[in-house]
Amino acid sequence: MIPASAPVPVSFEDRMATVDFRVAADAHITVDGDACRGCSTRACVTACPANLFVPMADGGILFNYEQCFECGTCYLVCDTAGAITWRYPEGGHGVAFRRS
Ligand code: SF4
Ligand code: SF4
Repeated sequence: MIPASAPVPVSFEDRMATVDFRVAADAHITVDGDACRGCSTRACVTACPANLFVPMADGGILFNYEQCFECGTCYLVCDTAGAITWRYPEGGHGVAFRRS
């Protein structure tokens, strides 16, 4: 039996619906697909809370910066030099949390 005080599970889609993104024209994170081909961990795929890294059949990684939370986790967990280039979005752009 679930205690009355237990948090109500929230789906990934519902969580994402509480966040707005002011998308910049230039990507603040880029991923070098060639560097990723030799990666055995694919740590970014499981670590990114926004599910922005998608493994491809050819060994590369498909990445989209537009819904990035700017948490920096991908940069921290990736141990392949040069695979990820990371910076914050230019001023006035990026993630904007709002209350649901
Ligand atoms: S970004 Fe880093 S952790 Fe992710 S697949 Fe490429 S080399 Fe591996
Ligand atoms: S900074 Fe965070 S949300 Fe953005 S791509 Fe990296 S892990 Fe995902």
